[in-house]
Amino acid sequence: MRNQSVSLTALVEAELMASGAWLITIRWLAGLGVVLGTFVTHTILNVRLPVVPLYIIGVAILIYNACFRAILARLARAATPAPQAFAYLANAQIGLDWSAMIALIHFSGGLESPAVLYFFFHIIIAAILLSPRATYFWAAMATLLLTIISLLEFAGILPHEHVRDYIGIELYTNPVYVLGRLVFFISTMFVAAYLASTLSSRLRKRETQVVTLSQNLLTAYTRLQTVYESAEAVNSTLELGEVLDRLVRRAADALKVRACSIRLLDETGARLSVAASYGLSDAYTQKGDLLLEHNPLARQVIAGKTIVIGDVTNDARLQYPHEATAEGIRAMLSAPLTGKKGALGLIRAYSVDAQHFTPDDAAFLEAIARVGSIAIENALAYRALGKLDQMKSKFVLTVTHELRSPVSVVRSLMRTILAGYAGDLNTQQREMLTRVQYRADFLQTLIDDLLDLAAGKADLAQREDRVIVRLDEAIARIVERFKIPADEKQIAFEWRCEQCPERTLTISATGEGMDRILNNLISNAIKYTPNGGRVTVHLRADNATAMIEIADSGIGIPPDALPHLFEEFYRAPNAKAQIKEGTGLGLAITKDLVTRYGGHIAVQSQPGQGTIFTLTFPLVTELPM
Ligand code: ATP
Ligand code: MG
Repeated sequence: MRNQSVSLTALVEAELMASGAWLITIRWLAGLGVVLGTFVTHTILNVRLPVVPLYIIGVAILIYNACFRAILARLARAATPAPQAFAYLANAQIGLDWSAMIALIHFSGGLESPAVLYFFFHIIIAAILLSPRATYFWAAMATLLLTIISLLEFAGILPHEHVRDYIGIELYTNPVYVLGRLVFFISTMFVAAYLASTLSSRLRKRETQVVTLSQNLLTAYTRLQTVYESAEAVNSTLELGEVLDRLVRRAADALKVRACSIRLLDETGARLSVAASYGLSDAYTQKGDLLLEHNPLARQVIAGKTIVIGDVTNDARLQYPHEATAEGIRAMLSAPLTGKKGALGLIRAYSVDAQHFTPDDAAFLEAIARVGSIAIENALAYRALGKLDQMKSKFVLTVTHELRSPVSVVRSLMRTILAGYAGDLNTQQREMLTRVQYRADFLQTLIDDLLDLAAGKADLAQREDRVIVRLDEAIARIVERFKIPADEKQIAFEWRCEQCPERTLTISATGEGMDRILNNLISNAIKYTPNGGRVTVHLRADNATAMIEIADSGIGIPPDALPHLFEEFYRAPNAKAQIKEGTGLGLAITKDLVTRYGGHIAVQSQPGQGTIFTLTFPLVTELPM
């Protein structure tokens, strides 16, 4: 409201300024009109007139008009013109015009002068520029001045300037004429003042309404924009802390208040704890939780009501009124945060001015709260999912860990039996036990993979010791390992690096981790490439990144399998149909390791044609501290 009245005054001032300028333009014509009119009437039409005073009046009008023009220009240039300056100027202009008019009338025949009629223009102009009161004042002044002049001339105190060529007989001494002229002049003057000022004040009222309306529209638009931007800002992250921080900041800015906070319900649903705040002291935010049982205000808000506390110093509903006063808070506005499954908490705005919040503010905070609730709910769900994933990984870690030792005992016993230490075996027994051993080995790999994967997910990764790993050496080692399997399938297997050995490409990783990554990708390439195919490993680098490409001419990956490739236990249907062995864990582990080392893995494939896996890693020459 404060802002509105300020700009309304500014608007009225601006209008007065424009009207002032307009009046000056008209006055140039009036001044020139008096001079020219006198010249034409006297010199051309040969009407006898008191020319000298009339010329003086015309020139005087032009001179004071020039002064007004200069003053108005100075006022318009001033950054902050004195209050009411334009209104004073308008009154001064009309005052001088009135004096000029009266002089003109006197020198052109007093009450008999046709110039009397010009007063009506002036009263209309006054009604346009000034308040109705000022208009009536000037109407009264005009009638008073004319009456005084007429009476003075009638009484012979003031000499009468008779324009004989216009009116043959002198009428100013005829009491009936004088009375009749004056009565009609005065009544017409006041009727004109009434009509013109009523019309113009009606117009002015309309104008004020239009201005207020357009200002309200602008405020509403700005707020809508803020809600929209807040929605964008809070929905662009799933990190709960960030969502809440952005929300309180946006709300405080948009409501133009000092502070804003969000309290969320705890698991018991009985207390509200501060989850984010903006503009509040630590002492205030740490003053304690709101207990719904003892806090009727919080209870009402949680039940879905938006509540305004106009003055915290005398509202019994507050749980901590003294703390609020000490913090310098005088008014509060609280809106519920409600999710799909019920109350999440509340958002509260704080102002240092009592009675600060309007119903509009309440509706606005409600809108922000609705947008915020969705974002908070999403972030909470995301956080819960993360926790679930961690729990699952911990579970897998425990179970597989427990499985590991019995399996390794089984494997070592099998080795002992197959080596003949427990007595001779016949062919059938040996064949069956070999199959058992094969299966036990597979079980061991599976357990190792699962342990690896779970270890990565369970945040054990942070404990690993990173070293500088030379990529060419790591690749060469794994390529060496797969030469024989590749030969067995007559696969053309090659590896190249144009920039080696001039450039040593190094990244930060663990030797074992890098081995596993390359092992998994190269073993897949050989495994999923039929006899006689081709597998190439290619290493290159630009300024900051190393790139390893593992390409094969194998069975490829169907497009609808691509999005699932890095999921645990996922195997594409074409792979499952052709090769029985496989857990579907290799790529999940690979991706996990690559991400840990700050790298990225991508895949391109054409079913039946081949597959290319591309790894990129940031190059480092020394380990980050
Ligand atoms: P393992 O866990 O024993 O490695 P796997 O090879 O089946 O089993 P991943 O290495 O995780 O599992 O690979 C997942 C799936 O991705 C494979 O089952 C296969 O469908 C597909 N795949 C991976 N690499 C290739 C490749 N080079 N060519 C074709 N398909 C591939
Ligand atoms: Mg594999």
